[in-house]
Amino acid sequence: MPLDPLSIRADFPILKRQSSSGAPLAFLDNAASAQRPQVVIDAISDCYQRYYANVHRGIHTLSEESTAAYEAARETTRQFVGARSQSEIVFAAGTTAAINTVAHSWGGNHLSAGDVVLLTIAEHHANIVPWHQLAERTGCRVEFLPLGEDFTIDDAVVQDKLQTLQPKLFSFASSSNVLGTNFPVARWTSMAHAAGATVLVDAAQGAPHQAIDVQQWDADFVVFSGHKICGPTGIGVLYGKEALLDAMPPFLGGGGMIDRVTTEGFSPTGLPEKFEAGTPPITEAIGLAAAMRYLQSVGLEAIEAHEHLLCQAADTALRNIEGVEILGPTPDKKGGIVSFTLDGVHAHDIAQWLDTRGVAVRAGHHCAMPLHESLGKSASARASFYLYNTLEEVDRLVEAVKETRDKFARGGRRRRRRSQSP
Ligand code: PMP
Repeated sequence: MPLDPLSIRADFPILKRQSSSGAPLAFLDNAASAQRPQVVIDAISDCYQRYYANVHRGIHTLSEESTAAYEAARETTRQFVGARSQSEIVFAAGTTAAINTVAHSWGGNHLSAGDVVLLTIAEHHANIVPWHQLAERTGCRVEFLPLGEDFTIDDAVVQDKLQTLQPKLFSFASSSNVLGTNFPVARWTSMAHAAGATVLVDAAQGAPHQAIDVQQWDADFVVFSGHKICGPTGIGVLYGKEALLDAMPPFLGGGGMIDRVTTEGFSPTGLPEKFEAGTPPITEAIGLAAAMRYLQSVGLEAIEAHEHLLCQAADTALRNIEGVEILGPTPDKKGGIVSFTLDGVHAHDIAQWLDTRGVAVRAGHHCAMPLHESLGKSASARASFYLYNTLEEVDRLVEAVKETRDKFARGGRRRRRRSQSP
């Protein structure tokens, strides 16, 4: 059944507010972070108000109740991604923390001088910098798959790099946070496995919009963040195949991850606590589980279809504006993201003008500098949609971009012509 964004909007208190300009808020910055429905806010405040205590260690009522809720959140997450066992679900601070955990614990143990980590050029810095840092520590090398003309990457290009470079790890985003391109996770994973590579999937932009099935993907690691799926900040998920996680040394050391500590050393505890040193994100996990239940109650297929509708409308209308260049493939190959540049106007000016119309978009390199460099751009503006956005908001976006062009681009061109004349 198609989703009704107006009834969905009623679940999100923040969407009732206005922007500082007094215009109603059209929140189109969801790829950076989504908003939270009341059920998530309630789950968090209910924990703090009724049963909050530190988990796992206390033998008293509140600690037992908090522990039960925290572990129930792990089970909700296991079901959300289709993992075999709760041992495969590690709560991390977010996608960035999860990738860093894999880079240190798995990468530090499996990669050495000359080994290759293969990425796509479309990666977020969170899936680039930890590998550069690993390269500095181990002497391994980071290589990039280039983008095709149509903002996708051909299987033949992937196959060629897998064969010629023989990477130990292939790490890629399921969807690009700038282009919106959906990459074929299951197919690339199977190609990488056939070439002997381990696979990490950065699902930060995939998890909000498509049902994840880690069994079907068969990736070795899958990571994503809570705040992009209507959950709290400060929590994310590191899924790893049990045998891999089991063989990895812990990353952070401290309380909660040990079996025994002596003056001589320590022995780590089992999965998943081995990777959850210190007081874990308790209320965040509880809020995350509420967000997952909320998205499932709406239906991820309906969410994906709704975003596709919005993306199609925005993409088509923006392409028709003189001076707009869309960075990304046609809507059938992408999720709910439309990034664009406007000839003669800096992306920050676009975002600033749109804000005066109550339209919130992001401007800059979106933590994807190598991608922008490969496209010959220093920055872009990005509109990103979610389940509560409407076609009326798309119209407001398009109108505001036209206004921006009229205000900045034409005046800018006139000004440039004047300054070039002798
Ligand atoms: N990867 C991708 C594709 C992203 O879009 C983001 C967030 N913009 C990240 C990684 C990093 O996520 P976080 O900041 O939540 O760690």
